[in-house]
Amino acid sequence: MNLLINNIGQLVTVASHGKRVKTGEEMRSLGVLSDASLLIENGIIAKIAKKDELTPPEDFDVIDAEGRTVLPGFVDSHTHTVFAGTRENEFAMRAEGKSYQEIAEAGGGIISTMRATREASKKDLYHLAERRLDDMMRYGTTTVEIKSGYGLSPEAEIKILEVIHDLQRDHYATVVGTFLGAHAFPPEYKDDKQGYVDRICDYMMPYIAEKKLATFVDVFCEQGYFDLHFTEQIILEAKRHGLIPKLHADQLNAFGAVELGAKHNAISVDHLEKTNESGIAALKNSQTIATVLPGCSLFLNHPYAPARAIIDAGIPLVLATDFNPGSQMSYSMQMMLTLACTQMRMTPEEAITAATFNGAAALGLSAEIGSIEIGKQADVVIYDVHDYRFIPYHYGMNHVWKVVKNGVMLEF
Ligand SMILES: [Zn+2]
Repeated sequence: MNLLINNIGQLVTVASHGKRVKTGEEMRSLGVLSDASLLIENGIIAKIAKKDELTPPEDFDVIDAEGRTVLPGFVDSHTHTVFAGTRENEFAMRAEGKSYQEIAEAGGGIISTMRATREASKKDLYHLAERRLDDMMRYGTTTVEIKSGYGLSPEAEIKILEVIHDLQRDHYATVVGTFLGAHAFPPEYKDDKQGYVDRICDYMMPYIAEKKLATFVDVFCEQGYFDLHFTEQIILEAKRHGLIPKLHADQLNAFGAVELGAKHNAISVDHLEKTNESGIAALKNSQTIATVLPGCSLFLNHPYAPARAIIDAGIPLVLATDFNPGSQMSYSMQMMLTLACTQMRMTPEEAITAATFNGAAALGLSAEIGSIEIGKQADVVIYDVHDYRFIPYHYGMNHVWKVVKNGVMLEF
């Protein structure tokens, strides 16, 4: 818990100076210190100084970073990490040019993950997700939001949220839970959509709130899924139970989902591939954070979200993976940095801010994590690179050398 990291070539602090979230020019300001050292006491960042300037007390461990680069741990604020079964068969069908309809007829799509997840035991789901979290940490992610949404029945949704809750208690990663019962309509409610939404609001949500099984409530707001009316009903019910709303918005169609999220003060609206001027204007006049998920665009060959326009409008932007078995099977935040820079015209500085400090803000945690500042939780990652820009530049690689979580150096 007590540690001195000395001889840091570049210490990328992403310092926020007390702000909740970074916007505009602030996103380009990474607060990089050259030839630095970092003292961590009881899991908290205690001192930042020039290299060799700090003498650690006797019981401190010392790491010589040998000129390497240190960043805050990534905050992946949008994932679907708890699921059973994988869908490489669908991936291959898409590669052969098969349509969504053909894939669904062959038993693919979200319902196939739902079936496998419903059948899996809590123990199996836990072990599958635990291994994924271990891997995420190896890739530099120290905080992970996880959504339910592959159960789509009260028992199965609660089972997933209990797994997330157990991981939150046991795993080294910081885990944050989100209830996404409104991910799709289960087959049993195919002809009674209102009935399923009522089941979410009147039965699942009160139980989840009472047992404190989630911090956030999310809705897949999309044509053919949860329309604006259903989404608003769920948001209002979430707020009534003290749960914080966030939305999947504007992924396939722009029909007012972002505007609805902004109106109800959602903590974030995520995806935004189709977001237009009206959505950007609504976000500009709100506290809602814009989260973009470029891995989905890569994997599905869809357009990318207008990240440049969003940042230029002064709206805080977040990068996350959307890791899930159907549309985005990667949890590498390093890869998301590359996609941000090459496909969305973001600078490496903006991408790093979006993947660390602003990600923390999208989980309401930016006072504790997301930057390397005195008094914050010591979630820091040492990369085997001489310059932080080398991480998105030399892409498809894992550049992590060591991960320090809560001041503890992890052994992999
Ligand atoms: Zn998602």
